[in-house]
Amino acid sequence: MPQAGQVNTQFGVYKNLCCGAEIVITKGAIFPDCPNHLQLTTIWKPVDFEMTLTKKVIQKKEESEPAA
Ligand SMILES: [Zn+2]
Repeated sequence: MPQAGQVNTQFGVYKNLCCGAEIVITKGAIFPDCPNHLQLTTIWKPVDFEMTLTKKVIQKKEESEPAA
């Protein structure tokens, strides 16, 4: 997984493991340090944005259906 200071090779949403903060990083941009943990090597985990979106749609659908 990419770390702070590395150059991003794939545009996407990334979440850091220490705080769970989500950022969007474009290709060629450098992964930043976590603002709360400047001393640590921040690891950024790619977030499957489409999957997150799909989950939200499914949740909304379930909420709109009447309870059995
Ligand atoms: Zn942090």
